[in-house]
Amino acid sequence: MAARRILAGGIAQESHSFNPVLTTRESFAVSEGDAAVARARGTNSTLGGIVDAAAAAGVEVVVPTLFRAQSGGPVADAVFDEVRGRMLDAARRGGFDAVVLPLHGGMLTPTLPDPEGALIRDLRAAVGPSVPITAAFDLHAHVTPETLEHCDLLAAYLTNPHSDQGATGRRAFAAAIAMLDGALDPVLAWAHVPMLTLGNDRTDEEPLKGLHARAAAAVAAGRVRDASIFNAQQFLDVPGLGQVVLAYGDGRSAEAEALALDLAEGLWRQRAKLIGSYPSLDSCLARAVAGTPRPLILGDQGDRVAAGGPGDSTVVLHALLALGTDLPAAVPVTDAEAVEHCRSAGVGATVTVTVGGRHSRVAPPATLTGEVVAAGPGASLTYQGPAEKGQRAAVGPYAVLRAGALRVVLTALPYAYIDPEYFRAMGVEPREQRVVVTRSGYHFTLNYAAIGECITVDTPGMTSYRVAELPFTVARPFYPLDDVAFAPEVRVRRRGG
Ligand SMILES: [Zn+2]
Repeated sequence: MAARRILAGGIAQESHSFNPVLTTRESFAVSEGDAAVARARGTNSTLGGIVDAAAAAGVEVVVPTLFRAQSGGPVADAVFDEVRGRMLDAARRGGFDAVVLPLHGGMLTPTLPDPEGALIRDLRAAVGPSVPITAAFDLHAHVTPETLEHCDLLAAYLTNPHSDQGATGRRAFAAAIAMLDGALDPVLAWAHVPMLTLGNDRTDEEPLKGLHARAAAAVAAGRVRDASIFNAQQFLDVPGLGQVVLAYGDGRSAEAEALALDLAEGLWRQRAKLIGSYPSLDSCLARAVAGTPRPLILGDQGDRVAAGGPGDSTVVLHALLALGTDLPAAVPVTDAEAVEHCRSAGVGATVTVTVGGRHSRVAPPATLTGEVVAAGPGASLTYQGPAEKGQRAAVGPYAVLRAGALRVVLTALPYAYIDPEYFRAMGVEPREQRVVVTRSGYHFTLNYAAIGECITVDTPGMTSYRVAELPFTVARPFYPLDDVAFAPEVRVRRRGG
């Protein structure tokens, strides 16, 4: 018997409906073919999990293309069309026993509210009803009826912060192989819950910890084959935004239906507990001025590039400038024009520039005078970790402006600053500051824990959990913006049915 072959690949990015900066092809890392497989091998990524599980099972993995980018504005339609075209060309050429897709699931294009659903629908049309299609998604995905209709088994990460990307890829792969072996006939029971989780949504803390424990117990006991709890990312103004729970039975649905109902009821009942609360910026800066044993590492909740923000909010910068410039602090701001201005003036020059506030409108641009102390066309860095230790990254054009003890780190493109090495790559030592600002909500806390006290601050903006301040229209009604009368309804999907 010839070795089995599976089709994998696609596109992974998390989009923000209210970020007006389109994510274009330059923002994507693109890999394909044998190079994509080799690069994924042994990594804790969804494709890595698929590739490693396939190698162990003697299955060949074909990757026509894989596009990956950090979070940001919607993805240009041309980029998605390119990926879809390559995947469909391969699917139509045939020769695949199954399709296993490593996607994110929370993406948008200007014309498509659910590109992943469209990709899976089109792949289903290309390969026909009998070829298994499974997928691995981030748990922050927006899961739609279209995806569930055309995908035989969808697996979400079970952890937030995420640490089980590889294991999720292995679940999707194993389900496809079990279907080929006649060892799995997936029957899906699922429910949608019209609510958002807003900050108190780590899976290692209650209330999500308890819900995941119930799902895991059902899987371990063999009552269901696989279960997922999707906590949709909060910044998609699309139809049907909300929580989605999935439970897959093998050939039967009763226990899966019971689990899906239990999980949906659990989310809804505990909805108020899934909203976090955060310290104010003023209280954090007052502590920094008074003096803290270690630097305060502040996650600017309102403009988290990690959640799709543009990275040019000046809320924290204005608050620091209001204190004078005696407090040693480092603040990153995305502003390509300001970078150019500083670079053309040159290191050592004194300049007056207006920075930020172009896309983030919760605070106006900030004008300041300072010395250009570093500048360049780009810099590279390697994460010191522990999260993603060893990962290489690059920053594009940058300049560092010093005003008193304040350092404004200007970059042409946005970064989340999840690792201190971002600052060091541009000549700023985080340990020497009293305040360091990052554009991440909690992923940064792992990598700054060794050098400072990490706090996510309650700042306004595009990625704030204060969703009432965002212009949601299409996604409504949902809790907490609307008073929704709701009782979960479980739906069942069978293969070919
Ligand atoms: Zn996520």
